[in-house]
This record gives sequence, structure tokens and C-alpha cells, in this order.
Amino acid sequence: MAVPESRPERLENGKQTPRRPSTAHLKVVPPSRELRDRIRALAAETARSFDRSKPLSREFLQGQAEKLLDEAGLPRSYTGFAMVCLSNEFWRDQFMSVDFSRRMLLLPHCLKHAEGCPADYDEFGLQCLECGACVIADFKRRAEELGYKVLVAEGTPIVLKIIVSGYVDAILGVACLDVLEKAFNKVLQVGVPAIAVPLLSNKCKETSVDEDWVAEVIEWRTEPPPVRTRSYLPLMRLAKQLFEPGTVEQFVPRTRLAQLPEGADPMTDPVAATEAIAFDFLARGGRRFRPFITLASYDAMTGGAASDGAVLDEELPLRLPRFVCRAAMAIEVFHKASLVHDDIEDDDLYRYGRETLHRTHGLPVALNVGDYLIGLGYRLLKPDDGEQVPADAVADVLRCMADAHLKLAEGQGAELIWRESTDKRLTPLEALRIYALKTAPAFEAALYTGLRLAGPVGDLAQKVTAYTRHVGIAFQIINDLKDWDGDDHNKLLAGQDALSARPTLLLALALDADDRRLRAALEPTLQGDGRDLAAVQRLRGLFAELGVFEKAYRLVKKYRERAREVAESVDVEPLRDLLVFLLDTVLDYTPSDQLGTSPLPVIQPTT
Ligand code: SF4
Repeated sequence: MAVPESRPERLENGKQTPRRPSTAHLKVVPPSRELRDRIRALAAETARSFDRSKPLSREFLQGQAEKLLDEAGLPRSYTGFAMVCLSNEFWRDQFMSVDFSRRMLLLPHCLKHAEGCPADYDEFGLQCLECGACVIADFKRRAEELGYKVLVAEGTPIVLKIIVSGYVDAILGVACLDVLEKAFNKVLQVGVPAIAVPLLSNKCKETSVDEDWVAEVIEWRTEPPPVRTRSYLPLMRLAKQLFEPGTVEQFVPRTRLAQLPEGADPMTDPVAATEAIAFDFLARGGRRFRPFITLASYDAMTGGAASDGAVLDEELPLRLPRFVCRAAMAIEVFHKASLVHDDIEDDDLYRYGRETLHRTHGLPVALNVGDYLIGLGYRLLKPDDGEQVPADAVADVLRCMADAHLKLAEGQGAELIWRESTDKRLTPLEALRIYALKTAPAFEAALYTGLRLAGPVGDLAQKVTAYTRHVGIAFQIINDLKDWDGDDHNKLLAGQDALSARPTLLLALALDADDRRLRAALEPTLQGDGRDLAAVQRLRGLFAELGVFEKAYRLVKKYRERAREVAESVDVEPLRDLLVFLLDTVLDYTPSDQLGTSPLPVIQPTT
């Protein structure tokens, strides 16, 4: 759900704080039912004139909410609530047209009976036993009777995973305005019909909700509306489907497996084993964001037929040329090859929740599987016999991918060589140069490939290079900040980059301050075995003292703004929208209050 934005706070010295500005004063739920109903009615009236062909932006929604409240003589503190009501009205018809069996009801566990609830949690949230002590049981029972999937849980990752997996097409979420702020914005950006009913308080225990409102929405059902909003969901699903077992083989057949007797285990055959490990690794996971970018940029330049919101999943591959799918897969396969090699270089233990390949099969075998995947990527880039793909387009795509490969190796090489150096000198410019090589080229290749397969790219090529450079650098700096920010999606431990002595921008900014105390604090971390937690704690303290987190976050905002400027200068509207969506998605980050302050967890030394 889109949420209000507050002005950034300023420190006493005039610097802008990197922390998330508080929006609590804009997220007050109107205290009386009469007032809530009045705002809902005004929202229904206002939303009648909205353009439903593409998703609402948060800025637009906030402006409309403020206008609605001002005209009604109501306080701005209801902005968040009014935005939810406006968004609900925007999506109402499209939500109602989704079959019950394709909807998900998301309930908050804070509605449960705090003391007496006998239910336990598992990976999908609270497993309500329908004891009847709270309204969760009533909502759940009725929704499941109709065919809904019901989750009593919170959080965007699990919801997006379920949506992209193709199990549901619309969401009804009950949550407090704080949670809606975090969870629903991304869902709406993707273009998923979603209705939200706010809890009446932001407490975390025994909350309440307008129960008849929830019960009413659960029953909503109507025929498909005349206009459907543009949605990236079908293309996200396609990007994922391309790597499901059975589909990959339609594009690159498993030749070694085909040579074995039926039912034979390929791992027992020395030649077929490499192919088996590689295909298994390809199927393992990842967000498939790179192939999505290729599919979506092709779609944006060819009329947007695959994202117009009315496409059924089954029809989608038919709407995209087979070679576009192959090229999108090649991007992902090259990425997977680089991950195998990265994991070896960093001696990472886990990837996609399983042991890394070199830990499972040994370093030489993993190295070789990475090489195999590079070969597989090139095979995907060869058009099938009879496939009509202009040779110059294929040549341009190959050139772009080769450039990306070289730059990535240079960036990774710069990092590895720095880690081996003894003086550990690093300027912010050098760190930014490494960053520009590490993420941007692969991102550029994914975007360029979709555009080039749609036709000549012309002047757009320069914009794509500039845009992806800005996004890539901002993305890497955000990764630096998340390393200290308790990001529990990607990292389990704070300060991992420092422990691994990586040449981060934070380190470069700190070194740039040229403080002797700093170098003294850095020395044990950089020269040590990477397990000196006391040294990492001191480093964190000095980073904070020297304003390194603030400086880094200012750079994120600068590069994010530059990327936005480039995106908004693009003439082709669907591509412009896609570029804005990508940067809002990839660079969606505001430092938490805990940045650089939470205690480091204890790390057991490894043997
Ligand atoms: S109805 Fe379900 S969630 Fe509510 S108290 Fe009983 S078991 Fe817990």
C-alpha cells in the first residue's frame, strides 16, 4: 500500500540524517466509524476519475489524499488512511473480478487472543486452530469456504514470492498502517490488485479492525472490468517459469541425460554429472530479476502486449518470441556462472539456502560447473534453426554480454587484488569505480538485450549505460549500508564485509578521513583473520563518529536521483515507466534507526 512520505529530518549541524523520517503523525486512523466511512465515501468519489491503465504512484496518491482531506476540512494526520481508501477504490473492480480461488487473505497475528491462543507458528506464519477466541477464525473459515488462500503472517518477501510463484492474482490484506507502509507498496508497484483494511491501532497485541468491512470485502465478486491496470506480474512469472525443470530443457536440451538409459542417475556417469549439477543449480532459485528486465524491456518497446494486465499466464510465452526468452535465460545463466565463481573466491558457505557448490562437490568441480554454465549461456544465444532473428541484433547482444563479462571480471579482479594488497589504500573514487564494474554491466546487458531484440537502439544506448551505472553504484552502496543495518533477508550477521576485508565505499570514506585512530582500528580487521569482533565493533563506532553512514546514504540519494533523471528523459512511455519501476524496486532502501548502532552478533570461529 502506498504510504505518506514525511520531509527528511535534519541534524543540528544541518546534515541530513540517514534515518527513516518518521511518518507516524500521518498515519492516524480516524477514531470514529462515522469518520472512517466518510473518508471511504470521499475516496470512492475521488477515485472515479483515476486513470486505471497503469499503477498509481505514491506521490500521486499522497497528493490526492491531502487534497481530499483539505477539501473536507479534515486533518492531514489521516493521510495514510485516506491513501489506503483511495488505493482500494482504484483496485476495487479489478480485485472483485479475480476468482476467489486466485485470491489471498493476509491477516495479522496481532488480532489473535493474546493469552489464550493455542496456535503455533511455522514458516508460513500462525497456524490458526479456529478455537473461536478471536475473529481470525471467522475470517479464515469464510475465506477458505470461498476458495481463498489464507495466511496469518506479515512481510513482503513471502507475499511477493507467493504472487510471483503464480498461486494468487489478488490480495486482501488486514494490517496496521505501519505494516501496510512496508509491505504493500511493492505489491502495488508490481501491479497486483490489492485491497487493504487498516487495523484500528498500531499496537502489536490484541488489535481490532472494522470486522464488517473485512467480511464485506471477502465476499466482493463481479465480472472483469473494462480497463485493466498494467502489470509486470505476468512477465515476472514467466521469468521464473523459464527456469523450472522441464521448461529449461525446452530451450537447451540436456544432451548428456538423453544419452543415458531411462531412469539412470546422471551423477553416476562421469560425463553427464557436470550437466546434472549445472541444471540442478539453475533450478535452485533466485529472484530471476535479470531475465525479467530483458523480457520487460522487450515488451515495453513492442507495445506492452505482455504487461497490459489482461494476459493469461498460459498465453504469455506465445506473445513473446522464443529467442527473447532464450536471451533472457542466457543473462541469468551467465549470472549463475558468476555466482559459482564468486562463492569460490569468497569461500561462501551457503547459496539459496543450501551449501555452495564448492562445499558440496569440491572446488575443482564447482569451478568447472561455472565454466560449463558460461558455455550454456552462449548456446542459448544461438537462434534455433528456422528462428528469424536479425544477425546484427544477435551480434550486438553478444557484444554487450561480452563487455559485461569483461567488466564484471575486472571489477571482481580489482576487489580480489585489493584484498591481497598490504597497504589497503582505497579512495572513494576507486571504490566507486569498482562498484561501477560490479553490478551495472550485467544490469545494462539485461536491459540492452531486451531493447535490441525489439529493434535498433540508437540514442537510447547511451541512456541505458548512464542509467544502469547510476543504479548499479547506488545498489552497491545500499549493500554496504545493509551490511551494518541488520538486513535479515540477505545477511545473517552485521559487518560481514568488514570481517571479509572487502574494499567497500564505507571503508574508503573512512580512510579518506585520514584519522590515525581509524587506521589503528582498521588494522586488526584488515590484516587479521577476519574474526576480530572487537576490532569490527571499534570500526562501527568510528564509521558512525566520522559520519560515514550519512555520507554513503547521501551518495545513494545522489545516484538514485541521477538514475531517475535519465529514466524520465526517455521518450517511450512504457520504457520510461519500466525504468522508474526498476529503480524504485532495486533501490528501495531507507536506513533504519538501528544503522550502525545494533550490537554485533557473536560469530563462532570456523575451522
Ligand atoms: S481463533 Fe485461531 S488465532 Fe484466534 S485465538 Fe483461536 S487459534 Fe488463535
